[in-house]
Amino acid sequence: MIFLKTKIVILGAGYGGLMTTVRLQKKIRTEEVEIVLINKNNYHYETTWLHEAAAGTLRDDQVTYPVKSVIDVKKVAFIQASVTRIATAEKKVMTDIGEVSYDYLVIALGGESETFGIKGLKEYAYSITSVDAAKRIREHIESQFSTYQNEAIKKEERLTIIVGGAGFTGIEFLGELVNRIPQLCKTYEIDQNKVKVYCVEAAKAVLPGFDPELVDYAVAHLEKRGVEFKIGTPIKGADPEGIIVGIGEEETQEIKAGTVIWAAGIRGSSVIEESGFEANRCRVKVDPDLRAPGHENIFIIGDCSLIINEEINRPYPPTAQIALQQADVVTNNLLALLRQETNLTAFKPDIKGTVCSLGERDAIGIVYGKKLKGKPASVMKKVIDNRALFSIGGTSTVLKKGKFNIL
Ligand SMILES: Cc1cc2nc3c(=O)[nH]c(=O)nc-3n(C[C@H](O)[C@H](O)[C@H](O)COP(=O)(O)OP(=O)(O)OC[C@H]3O[C@@H](n4cnc5c(N)ncnc54)[C@H](O)[C@@H]3O)c2cc1C
Repeated sequence: MIFLKTKIVILGAGYGGLMTTVRLQKKIRTEEVEIVLINKNNYHYETTWLHEAAAGTLRDDQVTYPVKSVIDVKKVAFIQASVTRIATAEKKVMTDIGEVSYDYLVIALGGESETFGIKGLKEYAYSITSVDAAKRIREHIESQFSTYQNEAIKKEERLTIIVGGAGFTGIEFLGELVNRIPQLCKTYEIDQNKVKVYCVEAAKAVLPGFDPELVDYAVAHLEKRGVEFKIGTPIKGADPEGIIVGIGEEETQEIKAGTVIWAAGIRGSSVIEESGFEANRCRVKVDPDLRAPGHENIFIIGDCSLIINEEINRPYPPTAQIALQQADVVTNNLLALLRQETNLTAFKPDIKGTVCSLGERDAIGIVYGKKLKGKPASVMKKVIDNRALFSIGGTSTVLKKGKFNIL
């Protein structure tokens, strides 16, 4: 008699997917279950460090590590492929290199940039969404500086960089950028006064909802290093020359720039939409046990999932913190399903705090209800970064990729 193994397929080797994989491989015996992990690249990247790679303050190899360095290849089959669609009725995942069937599926494909239909942003603005995207930003900024140095008739706006969005990603990127600009000016022999950096934000505040004292600290830090904030200023469009912003009710203004980075919106993976899940901006409002409504064998976690904060009746912002915690719950729920149990664990985020870096040596944050700024916040940020590395890759990954520059 032949027993068919139950097949668990995990999509995405980011925080949610890779954490689920390493948790499962520890708890499952190979003779019972087949685990398959599918990811676009053969490496995992630390999405929360991508702003550093984009600014050029961390090299690509510092924000990545091979998937196979943390999975047990005797228990997990790794497939490097791009997922294009999930055929839920047939229990099949379509990829660019073929189909993969599943009994249970975990979707952890992360997020994509959300441009809210603003004209020209998709075509002319960069976004910090992957290692490749970060590399494109870094190389583009460098090429603007290099071209400026070499051109006979100097195009001043080449040295203008616009960051759209004063949320966490925008502010963290600006923190790195203001550290990188002096190095670029030195390399390309450019007067730093010629470089202009704008942060353009439609909302009336920087880091909306965050502690005002800490926000003031962050704004002062960045302004001192040359960032000009344009708050309450919606971006109406982008073109090859820069952006158009709204001024008041009727007026618009053009800001010319050599580089525009859009850091103001995130949606789930387009695979969610392609696969016909009911979703809001490709984020599925999952059941308490993290399954997709109406799909008993599909879990959705990380940026592709939408979890409501009951206290304020609004979705939690998608974070690595939530993705990692969801991975634990999904692992336990998969194990329960394999044991034929029907009582699954409900996911409840345990938000321990939020820290926003302002370059390598400064930050602001609230951790366990305590406000932090400056050096202590920056050290805490590195502790959090190292902890994420440890929870997936253990001590050896921390030793290879960890951040220890705390002095
Ligand atoms: C610059 C930046 C800074 C951030 N800072 C913080 C922070 O300080 N704290 C915090 O908690 N959160 C932070 N976040 C948010 C956090 O990174 C995300 O919420 C988190 O990465 C989501 O985890 P995930 O597992 O859903 O996706 P990810 O970790 O992004 O992983 C998705 C994986 O899926 C793969 N993939 C995508 N599409 C496909 C496909 N079609 N086929 C195959 N593979 C695919 C990707 O290559 C990737 O490996 C930050 C985000 C950014 C961009």
